[in-house]
Amino acid sequence: MLWRECRSCHRPLRSETSQALGYGPECAEKHGLKPKRRRPAARPRVRRLKPAPAPPDPDALPGQTEMALFFHQPTLDSL
Ligand SMILES: [Zn+2]
Repeated sequence: MLWRECRSCHRPLRSETSQALGYGPECAEKHGLKPKRRRPAARPRVRRLKPAPAPPDPDALPGQTEMALFFHQPTLDSL
């Protein structure tokens, strides 16, 4: 059966595929009858290398950066 007008919005259907479907291209898309336009092909992923760790500062004194910077909670022994 061929439809003369869109079953949803009643606009005249021009293309044969729309007449066979009974929906215009916009309404077919709205009702999920027609797959939406495919997205352009994704570009191949390029794996990024991790940045190299920063080289130690030549002026730094040994052991200068050893202490962890965290909040020191007092203990019974430290009071
Ligand atoms: Zn329509």
